[in-house]
Amino acid sequence: MSGLFLRLNEDMAKCNVCFRKCEIEEGRYGFCGVRTCREGKVIPDNYGMLTSVALDPIEKKPLRRFMPGSLILSVGSYGCNLRCPFCQNYSISWSEEVNDSKKRAGYVAPETLAQIAEEQKKNGNIGVAFTYNEPLISYEYVLDTAKFLVKKGLKTVLVTNGMADAEAVKDLFPYVDAMNIDLKGFSDRYYRDVLKGDRRMVMDFISESVKYSHVELTTLIIPGENDTEEEMSEISGWISSLDPSVPLHISRFFPRFHMTDREATPVDKIYRLKAVAEKNLRFVYTGNC
Ligand code: SF4
Repeated sequence: MSGLFLRLNEDMAKCNVCFRKCEIEEGRYGFCGVRTCREGKVIPDNYGMLTSVALDPIEKKPLRRFMPGSLILSVGSYGCNLRCPFCQNYSISWSEEVNDSKKRAGYVAPETLAQIAEEQKKNGNIGVAFTYNEPLISYEYVLDTAKFLVKKGLKTVLVTNGMADAEAVKDLFPYVDAMNIDLKGFSDRYYRDVLKGDRRMVMDFISESVKYSHVELTTLIIPGENDTEEEMSEISGWISSLDPSVPLHISRFFPRFHMTDREATPVDKIYRLKAVAEKNLRFVYTGNC
């Protein structure tokens, strides 16, 4: 047994990375479409398979209070363990089009990625950000790369939905310098019925992450789902109970992908929610306004 999976019998193993605990038959895949069972072990089939590489401003992650003004080599693969109907990266996360992304993906070994990141230092690069799709379903690749990055004095950044078992992925925490984690709302209904996730797991992941690295959080405000002042008061109050200096990004929704049945979030709503959050938190930023 590994903390990441449990072998159930000759032909099946259980993945422990997220709350779904998928029981995967040999050669089949879990819900995320990435973790598969091979010779009784659960492994990510997208290990090192990158679909996007870009040198981005750190503020774009978004991280506003971690090495501001710097650039970071940002990489993504494919697959996700949530099913947000408004996903802006759906072509690499969960639609049929993931199959096309798989064909486009190219293999970059952990050591090679660290070397590329080092070469980009001359252009202002500070490290590698694992982003675009959900990086923690490829936990092994992130960890292996982070070990090379730390030796080169480079930073490891994660942009994640936080839908991971903190105990299963605990070996990664000491290697991560900064994270932006989604806290998409504060109701179990929204996480379960709309996003196909688990709010408690995200909260536990955030609680653990703040002990190890710089953490900023993002809440995308969807009209009619998570846009009340009461909910923002609860979200910001809970974050404050961890640390009132954890920055919160409150972002505006635009209709896209499978969620086109409502208008974009009004800008004045975002600013009202910012004012609510600022009663509990020191650093609150707006996004997409
Ligand atoms: S990471 Fe993927 S395979 Fe593992 S439990 Fe979650 S959805 Fe299932």
